[in-house]
Amino acid sequence: MEHYLEEEVEARKTFAIISHPDAGKTTITEQLLLFGGAIRQAGTVKGKKSGKFAKSDWMEIEKQRGISVTSSVMQFDYKGKRINILDTPGHEDFSEDTYRTLMAVDSAVMVIDSAKGIEPQTKKLFKVCRMRGIPIFTFINKLDRDGREPLDLLEELEEVLEIDSYPMNWPIGMGKGLLGLYDNYNKTIEIHRPEVNGLNGQKVIPLNEAGEIEGEHPIKQSSLYTQALDDVELLNEAGNEFSEEKIASGELTPVFFGSALTNFGVETFLNTFINFAPSPTAHMTTDNKKVEPTADEFSGFIFKIQANMNPAHRDRIAFVRICSGVFDRGIDVTLARTNKKIKLSNSTQFMAETREVVQHAVAGDIIGLYDTGNFQIGDTIFEGKLNVEYEKLPQFTPEMFMKVQAKNVMKQKSFHKGVQQLVQEGAIQLYKTFHTEDYIVGAVGQLQFEVFQYRMLNEYNSEIIMTPMGSKIARWIKPEDLDENMSSSRNLLVRDRFDNPLFLFENQFAMRWFADKYPNVELTSLL
Ligand code: GDP
Repeated sequence: MEHYLEEEVEARKTFAIISHPDAGKTTITEQLLLFGGAIRQAGTVKGKKSGKFAKSDWMEIEKQRGISVTSSVMQFDYKGKRINILDTPGHEDFSEDTYRTLMAVDSAVMVIDSAKGIEPQTKKLFKVCRMRGIPIFTFINKLDRDGREPLDLLEELEEVLEIDSYPMNWPIGMGKGLLGLYDNYNKTIEIHRPEVNGLNGQKVIPLNEAGEIEGEHPIKQSSLYTQALDDVELLNEAGNEFSEEKIASGELTPVFFGSALTNFGVETFLNTFINFAPSPTAHMTTDNKKVEPTADEFSGFIFKIQANMNPAHRDRIAFVRICSGVFDRGIDVTLARTNKKIKLSNSTQFMAETREVVQHAVAGDIIGLYDTGNFQIGDTIFEGKLNVEYEKLPQFTPEMFMKVQAKNVMKQKSFHKGVQQLVQEGAIQLYKTFHTEDYIVGAVGQLQFEVFQYRMLNEYNSEIIMTPMGSKIARWIKPEDLDENMSSSRNLLVRDRFDNPLFLFENQFAMRWFADKYPNVELTSLL
């Protein structure tokens, strides 16, 4: 039995794709699903092409919820591995859930647009992966278009993200002049044949000892080929060394070039990725114990709760990352926070096109539990006597803020109850102004406000008024440093829900001004 579990866990590759909107995350996800046979044609993953949603389109968003639930986790088998890709919603769907999803993966793939380089959202998501020390694989996309110099891109990666890089392959030309990829790792050249856009379209030529194509080949006539050889030589001499250990600890990112749209370099990427991407490893508990994924008993934590936006179905789905053991439908678990026993009979697993009832899942997999209000984000559930509680999920620094109040002053009770519960659940963050105790809610993405407002009305029958305060920079201070005179119109003093003081700065300028004026006051941010 145990041996069987070990094999199953070993086969799991659970990761997220992080990128800035439009870098090509959806396109590459689809290519991966095609390789895995999970979908039959491209264009299936994104039911919507996220445009801008006006408020009146909210009902439309709800309808779309169905899609976003099913694409939350995409599972398929490939070369004996079971791949779980966790979606990290961007565009208007960007929220704290996007960050929290990164708590549930074992590695990340960072997709970068070769013309744009490192963009803000990539940087934010990267930081979270870095904090966790998980391996990060880089795919520099859109090679079929003219982009920036590959060496420039590598330099930017190292400077902006402060991570070492190792190019696994190197472009031979780009845009209309794209001739191929010099695969420095596999010692081959992949010839680009734009007319062949299919699973077996690439032509792969092995390199000789000297790292060149043996004999005659038209590509050798091109100056782009010589240029690529020169670049690779330079990188081999002056660049970072390949190190499997450094990849595993997240200190070095292997970099792949390619084009998701024309499916060039994607298969090589996938094959190398599954080779180096880690299988599930042990998780730490609050009392510093390690729980191995192959432990007999089931355990997991909840990293995301998605409310059903259909008022006729008030249920929610709690997403569980399984950390150890086996999930079989109907097992009894204990909710660590309350010690309550719960039978997990109503569970679901996600695929690209369908949602299926899950019967069996193991450590590394993600399952969805229908929830009527038992679970909170960060909760641990465990089977039998395992009795564990996993480390708390981090909180993320909100960037957008709204003042919030009940529309009907007579309905304060339901207002407070709703705010309290949704804040506890992790849907939004709450702050209070110092003396007046006005409520301010904070989020990392606009969608969180919309969901908050909608759920307040539908679940707590509380109509709210939200007044935008715009984006702010939130910085916490030590309670002993607190002096209320430090507060001004440009830096609003508030408390978080644990009563810790923080300032909401109007902008960078206001923050620098403050730092100059009070050099001894330490300003800290969450992640
Ligand atoms: P996402 O927002 O990161 O999910 O990006 P999408 O996958 O939706 O891609 C954004 C746009 O870039 C779409 O119009 C894609 O067709 C296009 N795109 C994605 N990958 C490539 C690529 O390799 N080459 C080119 N030329 N366009 C691409």
